[in-house]
Amino acid sequence: MRRIYMDHAATTPLAPEVLEAMIPYFSERYGNPSSLHSFGREAREAVDDARTEVAALLNAEPSEIYFTSGGTESDNLALRGIARKNKKKGRHIITSSIEHPAVLEVCKALAGEGFEVTYLPVTREGLVEVGAVEEAVREDTILISVMHANNEIGTIQPLEEIGRLAGEKEIYFHTDGVQTAGKIPVDVRSLGVDAFSLSGHKLYGPKGAGALYIRKGVRIESIQQGGGHERGMRSGTENVPGIVGLGRAAMLAEEKMEEESERMRSLRDRMSGWVLKEIEDSWLNGHPVKRLPSNLNFGFRYIEGESLLLYLDAKGVAASTGSACSSKKLAASHVLSAIGLEPVESHGSLRITLGMENTEEDVDYACRAISESVARLREMSALRPG
Ligand SMILES: *Cc1c(COP(=O)(O)O)cnc(C)c1O
Repeated sequence: MRRIYMDHAATTPLAPEVLEAMIPYFSERYGNPSSLHSFGREAREAVDDARTEVAALLNAEPSEIYFTSGGTESDNLALRGIARKNKKKGRHIITSSIEHPAVLEVCKALAGEGFEVTYLPVTREGLVEVGAVEEAVREDTILISVMHANNEIGTIQPLEEIGRLAGEKEIYFHTDGVQTAGKIPVDVRSLGVDAFSLSGHKLYGPKGAGALYIRKGVRIESIQQGGGHERGMRSGTENVPGIVGLGRAAMLAEEKMEEESERMRSLRDRMSGWVLKEIEDSWLNGHPVKRLPSNLNFGFRYIEGESLLLYLDAKGVAASTGSACSSKKLAASHVLSAIGLEPVESHGSLRITLGMENTEEDVDYACRAISESVARLREMSALRPG
């Protein structure tokens, strides 16, 4: 049976070039980057090269890149590290209601440490309004964290405007850029962000490797102490193969971005055009244009998303409903609730996230699979009137 992977927001396959770059660091180049001998120096050089490659992807300086175990750790380090270091200045944090759990749960934990958190609402399209950020700012606000693009509905936030506001008010600005790094151009300077999280396995790199950009001069403390690796910001012997893979993935992403994002956009629009036209009572969640080139989030009335996923899986199409992290819970997605969907509407959601290996034929096959599955489920549906 044909198997088509369309769940790239959950994770991406490793690019063959990335695997090739990593292999020597699992075998003959096993040195510890902290060692002074040639084995150590070889590993150190590889880590430094990767730092340069990740920095280039973001228009940052290599010295502003800190390697972590992934997006979750980068978010934890940014939020906890900045909040704790600046608590004498204030204890108020602003974030949005559609953040990834790696931000929302950290905010909850920080509230337990005496910080106060404002969760901004979003529009029907999933946009954070700059006016709402401005209204939420207080004398004691020390940090704003708004994600670059949402992992469920793909909406891209107006970071430049929020960054400008944060800069004027001298408030630190962090963004979870896990879904945008390597997919759309990112320039941390023009976005006006002080911290930017990214993750290897969302950009055709390895799982368990990520990075946090921290602008030079930002007051932040480490959340993991030990031997002082990563200039004291993140102790622990470096995941050298993972870091090498992340560096290579960043480099490839930069090379292919223009061409690949255009190709994604065209596949995305081909699919949404077809689905919305051919399937009754269907709609697109998220913003019509301010959205990731690879993201589609459909709503189908009278459908249960989980059942649709299983039907699609049986036809070889791998997609998702809500986010992978919450798919085991029955609760409605917090993102779809935040954009104003009723629980019955959000339960009929289907997230398709396209990637490098997908072709036009894949898209056409998936369209037919979706249409057949929706029709079959609706025939049986107790939700459907008449
Ligand atoms: C996947 C994801 C994360 C978590 O990254 P990991 O590397 O899996 O820890 C954080 N934020 C967003 C927006 C994501 O999509």
